[in-house]
Amino acid sequence: MALWEKTDSLGGQLTAAAAPPGKHEFSFLPAYYAAALKQAGVEVLLGQSVEKEAISSTNADSIIVACGSHPKALNLEGLDPQALVSAQDILLGRRMAGRRVLIVGGGSVGCETAQFLAREGSISPDQFYYYSAQKVESPEKIASMANSTRRDIAIIEALPRIGGGYAPGTGWPVLADLKRLGVRSYTEAKIQSISDNRIRLEYTVRDRRLDQTETYLADLEFDTIVSAIGSDPCTQVFQQLQQAFPTKDIRSLGDCQQIGTVLSAVQSACDLALKV
Ligand SMILES: Cc1cc2nc3c(=O)[nH]c(=O)nc-3n(C[C@H](O)[C@H](O)[C@H](O)COP(=O)(O)OP(=O)(O)OC[C@H]3O[C@@H](n4cnc5c(N)ncnc54)[C@H](O)[C@@H]3O)c2cc1C
Repeated sequence: MALWEKTDSLGGQLTAAAAPPGKHEFSFLPAYYAAALKQAGVEVLLGQSVEKEAISSTNADSIIVACGSHPKALNLEGLDPQALVSAQDILLGRRMAGRRVLIVGGGSVGCETAQFLAREGSISPDQFYYYSAQKVESPEKIASMANSTRRDIAIIEALPRIGGGYAPGTGWPVLADLKRLGVRSYTEAKIQSISDNRIRLEYTVRDRRLDQTETYLADLEFDTIVSAIGSDPCTQVFQQLQQAFPTKDIRSLGDCQQIGTVLSAVQSACDLALKV
């Protein structure tokens, strides 16, 4: 049995998932699987991309494709492509964000990327401890440094609220942190135009108690736009292999079959492994 991975490490999106504050435990999972695979005698081939040419040289009875997903492309007319980055690029440290950041997409990935960037522009827990222990500033000044960010961050969301993708009861610490650090959000927002480093959008404010809505226009300046509008399954490898080897047993699972969560990917892998 062999596991092919095109990058030089196991874990896929878990590396990005583990990057936001408080989520580092996700990074333990790849190390666990690396040990479990070794114990089970599975050959792990890192830096090996699966293409049909590679498969034709194996004599595998079953091929399971778990190629994951890729971020959806955000097309904004008038935007300098240099100013656009994906949430994954930010979380993986592949790109840096400027001081003024607009995050398009207020689901869990957009909210956690906003939190990651806001914390990056604030003082770290180590700095907080050092400043407090050494009385570098007054307690009030240190508290104010810890509760603010040097970045100007706003989330632009098409739906009536941000954080809609969280399971009940799980999103509130992130949303509370965004509020604490002064991250703004614009909901039911429609981008109207972009010119130079300025975006014009229409957004709605709802007063649920009075059942009233007001629509406003905002002009927001930015250095970086972060795209967090979801992911699309990577279906190409599965389709290529099915076409190339119509008589082989080829299946797909995880995000490359249907965008989901770590739990749904692991669950679908267990279910499938019991059938193969
Ligand atoms: C920023 C972010 C935060 C997230 N937070 C959470 C969270 O808090 N909770 C949660 O449950 N889920 C979270 N998710 C979603 C979760 O990470 C995914 O649902 C899960 O990782 C999907 O697992 P997978 O194995 O299907 O795909 P992936 O994790 O994408 O793994 C696919 C692997 O296939 C490899 N690959 C691709 N093409 C080839 C090829 N041709 N040959 C060989 N290898 C190839 C890739 O390099 C990758 O390692 C988050 C995702 C992101 C991006």
